[in-house]
Amino acid sequence: MGYKIVLTMDRTMASDYHGSLFYGFSACFPQGILPDWFFYRAFCPNGKANPDGSLRFANCGTRKVESALLDNGFTKNDIILAHPDYIDELVTEDTKILSISSNDPLGIGPATSTFTKLFGGEGRMAVKLRELLNSPSIKRYKPRIFLGGPGAWQLRVNPDKRKELGINCVVVGDGEITAPDLFKKALNNKDIPKSINGITLDGDRFFKIKGPTITGLIEATRGCARSCKFCVPSLKKIRSTPVSVLKNEVKINLEAGQRGVILHGEDIFLYQSDGLRVNGDAVVNLFKEIYSIPGVKWVSASHASLSSASSSPRTVEKISKTLELGTNLHPTKSFQVGIETGSPKLISTHMKGKAYPFKAEEWPDVVKDGFKIFTDNHIIPCSTIILGLPGETDDDIQKTINLVKALRPYKSVIVPIIFTAMQTTKLENEKSIQKDGLTPLHWELMLASWEHNFYWFPRIYKTYGRENPLILKTVIHTIIKSGKFYILNKIRKKIKNTSS
Ligand code: SF4
Repeated sequence: MGYKIVLTMDRTMASDYHGSLFYGFSACFPQGILPDWFFYRAFCPNGKANPDGSLRFANCGTRKVESALLDNGFTKNDIILAHPDYIDELVTEDTKILSISSNDPLGIGPATSTFTKLFGGEGRMAVKLRELLNSPSIKRYKPRIFLGGPGAWQLRVNPDKRKELGINCVVVGDGEITAPDLFKKALNNKDIPKSINGITLDGDRFFKIKGPTITGLIEATRGCARSCKFCVPSLKKIRSTPVSVLKNEVKINLEAGQRGVILHGEDIFLYQSDGLRVNGDAVVNLFKEIYSIPGVKWVSASHASLSSASSSPRTVEKISKTLELGTNLHPTKSFQVGIETGSPKLISTHMKGKAYPFKAEEWPDVVKDGFKIFTDNHIIPCSTIILGLPGETDDDIQKTINLVKALRPYKSVIVPIIFTAMQTTKLENEKSIQKDGLTPLHWELMLASWEHNFYWFPRIYKTYGRENPLILKTVIHTIIKSGKFYILNKIRKKIKNTSS
C-alpha cells in the first residue's frame, strides 16, 4: 500500500548545504552560470535519504506541516516526507495528494530576480520545480497537487503559470491549520480552492516537529512586529516557542546526528518580547538553555535586527560569551540582518518599525553601530539592501551608497536585491523595478556592495569554511577570485552602458 499524501520540495531544498545554510543562497543564482554537476557538489550536495525514500533532514516548514497532519488524524502510513529523488517510487496509484514546498517557484523572488537581471538565465528553483512536476509517476497517477512555502504567492499572481504547471491549489501563509482540513477535503473528492490564505497560527498551539531539520534549524519565533511594508512576515503575529518545546526539537535533531542548532526568528532578539523592546534576559536564557544541552556543539541564529543590537549591546555581548564566540572553538557566527536603505526618508515611508526604538532619521547611525556591535562580538552581519523601493530618488540611492562605503571596516556581507512587489505585503500593488529600470546610480550601489563583499569574502571564508574539505576550500577560493573579476567587470559595463 502506498502513501496517500506525499510531501516534498524541489531539489535545491533537499540538501544540508555542507552544514551551512549560507550556501543555500546559491540556489538564487540562475541556472547555467555554473554547470549543474559542479553547482550541486560545491554548494548544494544531495540531502541524505532514509531507506524508505524519506528525506532525512527536511526544512523546518515542511516538518511543521508533517507534524500538523500527524496531530490531526493522519498516520505515518498515510504520509511521507519524500526526498525528491525518490518521487517516482513514492507517488503511486494510492497517492491522492502531492504537497510541494517552494521558496521561489517561478524564479521571480527578490534575490533570484536580482541575479537574473545581472546575468540573464532562469532561476534554478523554477527549473528544478518544473523537473519535479514532470516526474513520470506524477504524470501517470495525477495526484492533486498543492504548493506552499515562502514563494507560493508567485503562483497566485500568475494563475496561468499555476495552471501550466498543473498545480491545483496554492496555499499562501501558514500551513499547519489549513493543510489538514484542505487535504481531508481533497481526499473526500470535495472541491478545493485554486488559492487559499493559510490560517495564521496563534495562541499557545505549537506543532512540534517529529523529524530532524536541515542544519538543525528550529523555529524560536514566527512573525515580525516591525511591519515593513514590503515584507511577508510583517502580516504575521509574532509568537515565541517555549524553551521546553525547543529543547525537545533539539533532542530530535541530536538523535538524528546533528551537532548544532540554528534558532530561527525574523529578529531573534525579540524572543519573548512583548512588543519591539529586547527582552535581554529571555534571549540570553534561550541561548544558554540550548547551548547547555548535552551533545550541542554550537548554536547560531538565522536573523537579527540592527536596531535590537544597537538598543541592547549588552545582550549581544552576553550571547557572544555564552556561545564562546571569538575562541578557537567558535571563531565566528553569522546572523542575517536588514539594512534595506541608507535613506531616513525611505525608512520613514516604508519601515518605521525597523528603526524602533530609534527614530527614522537615526537609521544610518543605527546601522553603523549595529555592525560595530556585532563584529566586536564575533558575529558577521550578512545584510540586504533594496534597490528600487517605491518613491526612491537619486538622493536616497546616494545615501545608501554612502552608508555601504562607511561599513567597509566591518567584516560583513551586503547583498543588494531589487524590490519585488510581493502579494500579501502592503506594497503588493506597487510596480517591481524592471530589467531596464536600473539607473547608473543603482549600478554604482551594486558596485559599492560587491566591492565590499569581495574585500571581505576571502577573510570570512578563512574562518567560516575552515572545516570544509580541502577540495571545497580550493573551489570556493577559485570562485571568489574569478567571481570578483567577472561580477565587478559586469557591473562596471552596466554603469557605462546605462550612462551613455
Ligand atoms: S524587520 Fe525584517 S522580518 Fe521584520 S517586517 Fe521588516 S523586513 Fe520583515
